[in-house]
Order: sequence, then C-alpha cells, then structure tokens
Amino acid sequence: MRVSENILISSLTTMRLGGPARYVIEIEKPEEIPDAYGFAKTYHLPTYVLGGGANTIGRDEGFNGVIIINRIKGIIDIDKFTIKIMGGEIWDDVVEYSVNKNLTGIEALSKIPGLASAAPVQNIGAYGQEVADVLTEIEAYDTKTNTFCTLKRSDLKFSYRKSILNTTERNRYFVISITLKMREGQMARPFYNSIEKYISDHSLTDFSPKGIREIVSRIRADKLPDPAEKASSGSFFKNIYLNQSEAESAIAKGYPVHHGKDGYKINSGWLIEQAGFAGQLLHGMRVSSTAALVLINESATSYQDLEKARNEIINKVYDKFGYWLEQEPNEILNESTLKTIKNNVGA
Ligand SMILES: Cc1cc2nc3c(=O)[nH]c(=O)nc-3n(C[C@H](O)[C@H](O)[C@H](O)COP(=O)(O)OP(=O)(O)OC[C@H]3O[C@@H](n4cnc5c(N)ncnc54)[C@H](O)[C@@H]3O)c2cc1C
Repeated sequence: MRVSENILISSLTTMRLGGPARYVIEIEKPEEIPDAYGFAKTYHLPTYVLGGGANTIGRDEGFNGVIIINRIKGIIDIDKFTIKIMGGEIWDDVVEYSVNKNLTGIEALSKIPGLASAAPVQNIGAYGQEVADVLTEIEAYDTKTNTFCTLKRSDLKFSYRKSILNTTERNRYFVISITLKMREGQMARPFYNSIEKYISDHSLTDFSPKGIREIVSRIRADKLPDPAEKASSGSFFKNIYLNQSEAESAIAKGYPVHHGKDGYKINSGWLIEQAGFAGQLLHGMRVSSTAALVLINESATSYQDLEKARNEIINKVYDKFGYWLEQEPNEILNESTLKTIKNNVGA
C-alpha cells in the first residue's frame, strides 16, 4: 500500500476543489485494507473511501483524516457472460471490455467517469440501463466486523441511484471487486428517447453493444463536459421527486412531470433553465448551456465560490417554483464540519 501525506483533494476529484488531505492510502492488494483502517485507528483519524472523485467534492479546509483509494486492478472472465472486475479498474474500460466481447448489459453506461468500485454505490445509470441490472455480487471489506465478505445483489437493495452503500450502510463497506453477468444480443427497442432521436437524425443501423456504445459516447460528448478537459461533478443537483398529489398540482401549474419506474419527477435541469441560469457564470462556476444540471468549475478558486453559486441557484429556484434543490455529489467533511451541519439540521 502507498501512503502519501498532504495531498490536495482538488487533485483527486473532478470538480478540482478542496484543500489538503492529511493522508492518502492507495490499496493495491485486498490484504492491505485492514492495515489502512488500522493506520487510521492508530492515529485516531476518520477515513473517507474515494474512487475517481467524479461524484465527490472537497472543501477548502481539506480533510484531517485518511482518504483510502482502491487501486486493485484486474478483469477476470468467470465464464462466457460473467466478469469479475477489481475495483481499481476505470469503469469505462470495463464497458469497453464487455462490448469487445459482444456482451450487452452496460453499453449505455459508456463514458460514466469513475472507478468500478464506485459503480454499485449509487447504482450508476444512464440511457435506460443501470449497473443493478447486471451486478450479481461484490466482494467487500466490512469495517464493522473487520472481515472480508461477499454481498449478493439482493443484499445491496438497489433502487434509483441508491444502494445500502450510500444509504443505510454508508461508510461501512470498502468495495474490493464487482461481478457482472451479461448476455449476448443487444438492447431492446424502443431505446431511450435521446438515443432514438440520435439514430433517426444520423440514420444509424448498428445497435450492437459496440454500436450503442458509440452512439452514447457521441451523445455524451455533445452534452456533457469531459472531466479531463472541464472540471465538474456531472449532475450537480438531484431531480425533484413528487408523490401523486404533488405531481397533480405540479401538472396543473404546467410543469413537465415525468412518470417512470422511479416515480414522479421534475428534472431539476428544467427548473434551473426556467430560472434563467443556463449558460450563466456564477462565482467562477458555469451553469452548462447544454445540460443545466451540470456546474462546470471554470474559474472558481475555492469551495466558497461553489457554495455561493449553489445557494444562488437553490434560492432562486425555490422562490420561483417552491422546490428545494438538493446537491448530488458527496462531500469530504471534517468531523468538526459534520458536527456543525448536524447541529444546524437539529436546530
Ligand atoms: C461529467 C460527469 C458525468 C457523469 N454522468 C453520470 C451518469 O450518466 N450516471 C451516473 O450514474 N453518474 C454519473 N456521474 C457521476 C459519477 O461518474 C458516478 O457517481 C461514479 O460512480 C463515480 O465514481 P468515482 O470512482 O469517481 O466515485 P467517487 O466520487 O470517488 O465516490 C463516489 C462514492 O462512492 C464511494 N466509494 C468510492 N469507492 C468506493 C469503494 N471502493 N468502496 C466503497 N465506497 C466507495 C465514495 O465514498 C462516495 O460515496 C457523472 C460524473 C461526471 C463528472
């Protein structure tokens, strides 16, 4: 395992904000995991498990703790359809590997930034597929019992952008590997609206896993910032979920309410656009003109800049529509900040 000191969180996360982390431990073999947690315990420091930092933001004060990162590599063919992926692999390399084997199941999840180990945490999804559709099990280290374990798909209680790993058992498990079972063939039609539109606009006919990967990659390149070029955390706000009576009253006001397998929702991007923010630069943060849900760090120099931009958007959307937007990315918080937040919520 590699231990480094005073590493800027901005260098480990795609939003590129955040002060120094006291220690960063990179895990290269599963047997090093207990040592990493033991190290943190010896120094009485909290831990934060990080992947590629595509859904995580650092604060200006940094982190007086130990960031642990899964760098374990390897993709193993279990059988013709099943692959086990060590968590340090880049997620998009996994998608490429599977489409090269002509397997269907994750081709629409092409170009989602981050590591394989983070994929089950928020049950990554896009264009009609989610990792929960194909994931059979994960190997993990349980920090509650200090044991290695296997969690089956049903143990993880997947739902829309959720699993036990980011809800009831947040911070308990260190994901070591994930196993996916896919199949031959191709995605069933009708595809997600934007894929269908792209196909008809460009008269495309190849819907094999490789073909869909190509289409999704092109749609995403037109719409979403590439973290290698532009700093962002992807969708910065969660969509607004409504119960039936809230949905009815929103429809009566003429708001676009979508009804899908995850219930009734209003796309937060629409609210942000209607509030006049699309394309605006707020405190160094650019509200994307192609996907208003995305904030791009163009020239913000601190978390405080992001905080000001975020609050301006939240307050204006609330004043105009009466909905509170919630931030999507996780934050690496010091224990003192966590206590303050808890006290404020309790107040
Ligand atoms: C431009 C852009 C586009 C995006 N598009 C999509 C999209 O279409 N769909 C989608 O679902 N997401 C999308 N995202 C969000 C992001 O890519 C996913 O959340 C991804 O899974 C994050 O991976 P990561 O390795 O960077 O995770 P991190 O941000 O490092 O971590 C995310 C969470 O996982 C936890 N975690 C990380 N590694 C482990 C581990 N080994 N064990 C236990 N917990 C762990 C962290 O503690 C944290 O809670 C996008 C992000 C960006 C920047």
